[in-house]
Amino acid sequence: MKSISIQKANARIWRAKLVRPFSTAKGQHDLLENVLFSIELSNGIRGFGEAAVATHITGETVHETLKNLKDTAGSVAGLGLPAFPEIAEEFKMKWAKNKCALAALEMALLDAATRERKMPLWKAFGTQPHSLKTDMTVVLGDVTEAETATREILRRGIRSFKVKIGRNFDRDLKRVAAVVRITGKCPVYLDANQGFTAAQTLKFLKELKRLKIKPALVEQPVPKEDWEGLAKVTREGKTLVCADESIASLQDAKRLIKTKAAGAINVKFMKAGVLEAYEIARLAKRNGIKLMIGTMMETPLAVTAAAHFAAGLGGFDFVDLDAPFFMAENVTRGHCVTRSGVYDLRKIKAGIGIVPILP
Ligand SMILES: [Mg+2]
Repeated sequence: MKSISIQKANARIWRAKLVRPFSTAKGQHDLLENVLFSIELSNGIRGFGEAAVATHITGETVHETLKNLKDTAGSVAGLGLPAFPEIAEEFKMKWAKNKCALAALEMALLDAATRERKMPLWKAFGTQPHSLKTDMTVVLGDVTEAETATREILRRGIRSFKVKIGRNFDRDLKRVAAVVRITGKCPVYLDANQGFTAAQTLKFLKELKRLKIKPALVEQPVPKEDWEGLAKVTREGKTLVCADESIASLQDAKRLIKTKAAGAINVKFMKAGVLEAYEIARLAKRNGIKLMIGTMMETPLAVTAAAHFAAGLGGFDFVDLDAPFFMAENVTRGHCVTRSGVYDLRKIKAGIGIVPILP
């Protein structure tokens, strides 16, 4: 492996149409517009990574992500594959605020390295692939739309639900009640995407209790910087709180453990990069924090990479890898997820197992 080097690399915009706009309390995706990073090794093996740009959450833009990855493509050519950690570290220092680009770089390097070793990516993280079955999201909308989406999800064979809330208290309450009426005992995760205050969240949970509804968790109820609010919901809400936007680094995860602000973390490559996501997950596990694996709006390439990560590491109680179900067109090739939400990575022989289809 020592003699293998990176021959060339490239970055380009990657777009895909969605079946419907993906609406949350913080913003909306009408289209997937990400950046694809690819590398080619001296022996011809290729590796792919994807940067999912969620401007309304992280402030990153497609323009700067593309620029940074193009610059990187120019500078990694000729470097040896074992230099992976140094390449990632250098990138991190140079573009500290562009974590989705870092994630794409790391993903492409890991894809190439595991293909080179003829092993599936999950083996980089563990000894056996844990099985994963994803939830599916009911996006913001009216009550009828929530009911229609819930029935569609049930028909697929998916049995856990993430309901977006956080924009309209009364309507959200009716939407959650409508979902639960249809799904019965299936676990329901609420995700407010920073849309509520602590007081509103506690009131929301109280109203649900009155309706005899117990969500499995409530995700990021308050703005990401409102650590006190997060802790208050954890203390008083009698419901598991999962921090998402608040946890964008290992440092954030340490703070969460110290302040007992939440009992779970939604781990996403795009917030911290792949290697730091690994450190966050391991720290959380050691400290009894529950884990969710999640993504931004990503193609099956990056989503399957996240599935490998969670399947290899194990210990993920909540799986939120439903982005492929929102794609209106095939932009990748390779086995990803079944209609009913199962990621069976035993079928993958090398790397992520997914390659882009490019026009
Ligand atoms: Mg979330």
